[in-house]
Amino acid sequence: MVSELINNHSVANYAVFGNPVEHSKSPQIHKLFAKQTGVSLEYHAIKVPTDKLMPYIELFFLEGGRGLNITVPFKEDVCSLCTTLTQRAKTSGSVNTILFDDKMNIQGDTTDGQGLLNDLIGNHSIQLEDKSILILGAGGTVKSILESLSNIMTKEIIVVNRTVSRAKALEGKFDKKSNIKAYSYSELPNYPFDIIINGTSLSLSEELPPISKRNIKENTFCYDLMYSDKGTIFTKWAIENGALEAVDGLGMLVEQAAESFMFWHGNKPDTKSVIKVLRDSK
Ligand code: NDP
Repeated sequence: MVSELINNHSVANYAVFGNPVEHSKSPQIHKLFAKQTGVSLEYHAIKVPTDKLMPYIELFFLEGGRGLNITVPFKEDVCSLCTTLTQRAKTSGSVNTILFDDKMNIQGDTTDGQGLLNDLIGNHSIQLEDKSILILGAGGTVKSILESLSNIMTKEIIVVNRTVSRAKALEGKFDKKSNIKAYSYSELPNYPFDIIINGTSLSLSEELPPISKRNIKENTFCYDLMYSDKGTIFTKWAIENGALEAVDGLGMLVEQAAESFMFWHGNKPDTKSVIKVLRDSK
């Protein structure tokens, strides 16, 4: 029965659960980390029916699973299934990493926000202090990002979302000094930002968020959480409309995976070499 539910992956002791998940690069990344650090692991991508998250988690653990990454669309739902949450997971209400301990506890963490910061600061030398930041989207990943950004003295953070109530709910949620303001797309101010982060899933369907080129100035840095071999529709639009630089989310993907690896195994792998392998394998 267990094998029926989790297909042929019952030997995996680590996996990513999502739907869709077929094109995930997480198995490749964690295998590269394992080789680099000498950790022995199996890691698979497992597609979970949207109404079967808890049974899949339980069965994965009973089959000897040790840890999971959680991706779209489960990051928010999984919080209530965890026995304990790290402070950043609790504050953000988003979990992308879980660890099973020997007492059958499920520990939840979120590494997306720290992964983005590590990529922006460590790999792209972006300074966030005193910067005006526009964030598009208010989903599970954006919550984790806001939790991490709220520890930095930015000038302002504006969140804009199709469902404006989801963005408004984030206004008072984090440290007050982070100065988060929420708008609908039609209310978004027309002035330019230092940094624009596309945290929507629109690039997956080759669609652009409805923002204006007036939100871009000559030194605006744009970031799309989505990654693509040839750049995303958003990074191309940003450059065509005057941004200084626009990058995709491959670096964040590797950085958040490294934070998850650290949560599970206690050691942090080198990320730059893994990002290079993934970029070169395009
Ligand atoms: P969610 O489903 O939680 O959130 C999706 C967001 O996109 C919501 O804000 C939603 O708005 C918005 N959106 C969806 N469709 C539209 C539309 N037609 N018009 C306007 N807004 C829209 O997803 P996640 O937060 O988990 O993921 C978001 C993106 O980030 C995905 O593309 C994912 O692949 C990527 N990602 C990248 C990572 C990396 O490491 N590089 C890590 C994690 C995620 P609404 O609230 O109105 O529905």
